[in-house]
Amino acid sequence: MSYIDEVIEEVVSKNPSEPEFHQAVKEVLESLRPVIEENEELYRREALLERIVNPERQFKFRVPWVDDKGQVHVNTGYRVQFNSAIGPYKGGLRLHPSVNLGIIKFLGFEQVFKNSLTGLPIGGGKGGSDFDPKGKSDREIMAFCQSFMTELCKYIGADTDVPAGDIGVGAREIGYLFGQYKRIKGLYEGVLTGKGLSYGGSLARTEATGYGLLYLTEELLKINGIELAGKICSVSGSGNVAIYATQKAHQLGAKVVTCSDSNGWVYDPEGIDVDALKEIKEVKRARLTEYKNYRPNSEYHEGRGVWSIKVDVALPCATQNELHLEDAKQLVSNGCLAVCEGANMPTTLEATEYLQKNKVIFAPGKAANAGGVATSALEMSQNSERLSWSFEEVDARLKRIMVDITHNIDAAAKRYDCEGNYVMGANIAGFEKVVDAMMAQGIV
Ligand code: GLU
Repeated sequence: MSYIDEVIEEVVSKNPSEPEFHQAVKEVLESLRPVIEENEELYRREALLERIVNPERQFKFRVPWVDDKGQVHVNTGYRVQFNSAIGPYKGGLRLHPSVNLGIIKFLGFEQVFKNSLTGLPIGGGKGGSDFDPKGKSDREIMAFCQSFMTELCKYIGADTDVPAGDIGVGAREIGYLFGQYKRIKGLYEGVLTGKGLSYGGSLARTEATGYGLLYLTEELLKINGIELAGKICSVSGSGNVAIYATQKAHQLGAKVVTCSDSNGWVYDPEGIDVDALKEIKEVKRARLTEYKNYRPNSEYHEGRGVWSIKVDVALPCATQNELHLEDAKQLVSNGCLAVCEGANMPTTLEATEYLQKNKVIFAPGKAANAGGVATSALEMSQNSERLSWSFEEVDARLKRIMVDITHNIDAAAKRYDCEGNYVMGANIAGFEKVVDAMMAQGIV
């Protein structure tokens, strides 16, 4: 059996009931086959792959909190510190009822390669809880965040592990988490990113993941001789990534005609109204059923259906495994040119293979959504020098990073004779730097 197959088998048997983690490991290791086979003997002796697929450390803890009626609830908190070969652990916190150890491990594993691709000195980690923020009051959110940080603060720090937001964690939650960290540790340091501008946050961090996705998409299309301006796009989701991806797509001359939440989706043939979306989601924290009140010519549909619309470019920006084989078939039969992932692993393995086989340009999340964490690293730099840069400066650096990632993944794919396979390109380019750093640091 090949080394890769042995390691995949071991991951599956040692980590039962973690299908998303298996999926992420399989996707990465399968696509690294040419690199690993070239060095199989050395890597096997060094147990390099075993070290790559096992987190350096993982924490699981109880999070008790009191709701507005005086009822006590207990959630489970997680932080997985996956790999620190190239810098302090870095990665978001996700608050969603679907969170379990397998989800956090898949996200942490992806984060290692994504962070490497940014070219910045950040290792990979991820955390979160099965707490459901939907429908909770501000006080309940604060109570949860304070309890969560009371435990988490033991494991993190500006030079060790720097969490940020993810699904369910935005500016409000980061504020409560930062306040509690400072209170317990007595340290005013850049221990979290995605902070508010009045207490050490970076301009353009809020927009960064969505903007970065579009910078990469535009560049990748350009490499393939296609212009983004004038193209029709579908976006799924309606959170931070979806909102700013839509805004940047419009600024670049494309038109986004869809968005979605967990109950349904919107089709607005005139183009999604970003101001309306922001008000519904960021101010009112309401559902997308409200969108029709702002745009009477739009359609609202229950359930899923974003990928049924005929578009040139599809941008999945909601969550993992939201674009299935059937959706991929529909996109291909509608003549879709490119799928670029704003979320983490939104496309299933079968759907990805189908898209690639049918010559759809496919950019994996670890490259396409790296703009968020890259800008978090820029926030860390600003915190370290106790200065803050202008919006234009941060945005220009973000753009440069995304353009560099695009060319690096393209070049890595070409180097291994798989031109146009950006999944391979991203995994190879991300892996090479991590492996180099791990080899240099000995058996740790
Ligand atoms: N949660 C984001 C991601 O998946 C951002 C992480 C960060 O800024 O540390 O990359």
